[in-house]
Amino acid sequence: MDKEEKPQTSPHVLIFPLPTQGNVNSMLKLAELLALAGLNLTFLNSDFIHEQLVTPMLFPDSSNMWDSNSGLYRMVSRTGIPEQPRVDCIIADGGLGIAVDVAEEVGIPVIQFRAISACCIWAFYAVPNMIQAGELPIKGKEDMDRLITNIPGMETFLRCRDLPSFCRVMDSTLQRTAKDARKNFHGHGLVLNTFEDLEGDTLSHMRTKSPNIYTVGPLHLHLRTRLFDSNRTLFNQSSNNVHEVDRSCLSWLDKQPKGSVVYVSFGSIAVLSSEQVFEFWFGLVNSGKRFLWVLRPGIMPEKGDEGNNIPVELIKGTKERGCIVSWAPQEEVLGHGAIGGFLTHSGSNSTLESVVEGVPMICWPYFADQQINSRFVSQVWGLGLDMKDLCDRHIVEKMVNDLMVERRDEFLKSATKMAKLAGQCVNVGGSSYCNLDRLVEDIKSMNI
Ligand code: UDP
Repeated sequence: MDKEEKPQTSPHVLIFPLPTQGNVNSMLKLAELLALAGLNLTFLNSDFIHEQLVTPMLFPDSSNMWDSNSGLYRMVSRTGIPEQPRVDCIIADGGLGIAVDVAEEVGIPVIQFRAISACCIWAFYAVPNMIQAGELPIKGKEDMDRLITNIPGMETFLRCRDLPSFCRVMDSTLQRTAKDARKNFHGHGLVLNTFEDLEGDTLSHMRTKSPNIYTVGPLHLHLRTRLFDSNRTLFNQSSNNVHEVDRSCLSWLDKQPKGSVVYVSFGSIAVLSSEQVFEFWFGLVNSGKRFLWVLRPGIMPEKGDEGNNIPVELIKGTKERGCIVSWAPQEEVLGHGAIGGFLTHSGSNSTLESVVEGVPMICWPYFADQQINSRFVSQVWGLGLDMKDLCDRHIVEKMVNDLMVERRDEFLKSATKMAKLAGQCVNVGGSSYCNLDRLVEDIKSMNI
């Protein structure tokens, strides 16, 4: 048979995300990159998440099949064979310890993926050492400023208050997190949505425990770049969203002066009390700066989930210099010239999206990895300020002024530099670009 006529067998990869919005989104981006590289993928998704996605556009250049009986989403590259049943490799979310156990049990090579920052994974990895050394659990409010000394590389700046709240009590969450973090270093490798110039120091510590780490982020920029380079459909900002995107804020931004607007968003999970919302609101209004604020339905659970729960006085009082929407096209917003700063909950995606666009941040971390991320933003990367657990209108006002005026040049300089490095790492020859190619080659070598 002519070589050209032979069907080429691509490896078949089963992608197993943790069924939460942020994790599914990050893994969809990874899946799309792998599909572009010609791998056959089956994406395991729950009906719950699948039904929520506003998702007509997925995986260009591949055929997509959703099987509602099995809950499996199948992507087949043009060179692939749809019937291929054998799974050559599982890419499992490392937050799902059980997926890793099952893969190991059935003898399929497993590569883990984590959507959270490397600094957070490394801190979680050190939890057993911290417990053994008596550093955890944290002993109360008076203990919050104590430095943690058992996370290699973070001894000089990471305080108890920079750890997630579940570190405050010795319960099953703490124990499970520690166990899962250790498990992330098993298997054939660990894929991370970060890049070497951002987290190189932490990564070098991690590599002493797990040499096969593939940093392929920032995934959204990497995907955008590879799609563009291969002349494929440019990414669709509104796909994979759980909420209807309100694009009217982009026309509002068009009318604002360059770098004048603070973008405020606390992601898809964080909830606030109405007191906290008002503290932020007064702080923003009193700062005299313009702001675009995402207040998604349900962000204040005490007000109920139905309809628009934003207090009328807040909407009325915002009109002069502000704009409130229920969900924004965040990547586009952060890339808009009118944005000068981002008041964020320090979610890993939001942090990376801000880094990519060179936008300095004020961090108000909510949970999980966010407390550590915000410490790195302020102390290690010099990209902004960390409000931590304070929520007070005077502090908000001061931080907005520091970010937008007093220390603007300093933060903008670091943010611009980091954005440039992020761009370089996903371009041909960059670290994330090369790591993705290495990942694809390593997966292909499992299919011989
Ligand atoms: N996001 C968005 N529009 C909004 C608010 C958030 O598109 O109005 C997106 C944002 O771009 C990011 C994700 O929602 O990709 C939030 O993820 P992150 O990891 O920052 O926080 P989480 O929602 O997991 O707490």
